[in-house]
Amino acid sequence: LGVGDAGGRLLAATRLETAELGGGEAAVDRMVRALRRLCDEQVPDIKPLAVGIGSPGPLDLSRGELGRLANLRGWDGLPIVSLFQAALGLPVYLANDATAAALAEWRWGAGAGTTDMVYVTVSTGVGSGIVSGGRLVEGRDGNAGEIGHVVVDPQGLPCHCGNRGCLETVASGTAIAREAERRRRESPYLAAVPGPLDAARVFDGARAGDAVAAAVIRRATDTLGWAVGLLANLYNPERVVFGGGVAQQGEALLGPVRRAARRFGMPALVGRLDVVGSALGAEAGVRGALAVAVTRHEQDARASGPGNGRRA
Ligand SMILES: [Zn+2]
Repeated sequence: LGVGDAGGRLLAATRLETAELGGGEAAVDRMVRALRRLCDEQVPDIKPLAVGIGSPGPLDLSRGELGRLANLRGWDGLPIVSLFQAALGLPVYLANDATAAALAEWRWGAGAGTTDMVYVTVSTGVGSGIVSGGRLVEGRDGNAGEIGHVVVDPQGLPCHCGNRGCLETVASGTAIAREAERRRRESPYLAAVPGPLDAARVFDGARAGDAVAAAVIRRATDTLGWAVGLLANLYNPERVVFGGGVAQQGEALLGPVRRAARRFGMPALVGRLDVVGSALGAEAGVRGALAVAVTRHEQDARASGPGNGRRA
C-alpha cells in the first residue's frame, strides 16, 4: 500500500503480509485502515484524488470484481472496486498486477521512451503486461497478458489455475525451486544447502558450476525465452522488461533468456529486441497501482473537459 503523486513518486508506503490479511471484506477493511493510518501519520497534508489497485488475475474489470484467484484463497468474486469506493469515497481503478507494473515501468521506469514494450514478471508466478502503440493492452476483462498460464507442456504438472503444464509450472521462481528440490540428490551443491531451496540458491548453484542447478535454470530460461519470442512475434515490441524477484538475478536470467528468444522468435523481430531488467524493482507493484490511479484519473479528467483537471 502506498501514497504517491502524479509524477510517480512514492511519498509513503507500508506492507501487509498476505497470510495475515485473510480474505474477502475483512481483508479490504484491513487495507483501508492501514491506508488511512499511512495518510494520517506520514502524509497528513495530502488529499488523495484516486485509488489504484493492482491485483492478481483473473479479473472482471467491467464489474470491478476479482475472479477465481489462483494464488489467494477467500477472494473469489470479491467486488473490490465497490468496497474500496464505499470505504474511501474516491474513484477506484482496478488492473491486473502485471499490467499495472508494466504501466509503471513504461511511464517511470525501464520502458520509458518506448511506444511498444512488454513487461514480464517472474516471481512466485509468471505474468506479463503489454503496452502497444502507446496504449496499455488490457483485453475484454482486464486479463490480457496472462502468459504464465499458456500451456507449454500438456503432460506437465498441475497448475493452480486448473490447467496442466502452464508456463509458470516450468519457469516461475516456485517452479525452479520445486524442480531443484526434486533433483536435489543428484547434485552435490544442492544437497549441501541447508533447509528448503529457493530460486536464488539454484542460481547460486548454477554460478558455482553445479550441472543440475544449471540444467534447472536452463529449463526455466529456455521457456521464458520461448515466451519472449512469442510476445515479440505478437506485439513487435522495442523492449521487454523483466521484473519480479527472480529478475533480481540480472544477467544470469536475462542473458540466457535473450539467447533463447533469438532461437524461438522470428529473427527480424527478436534481433533488434532489448531484453532488460526492471528499473523499479520491488516498488513495481505499488507504483503500478499508482500508475493505474494516475493514468485513469488523467483520462477521466480529460473526458470531463477542461477546468475539471484538479492536480494530484
Ligand atoms: Zn496455470
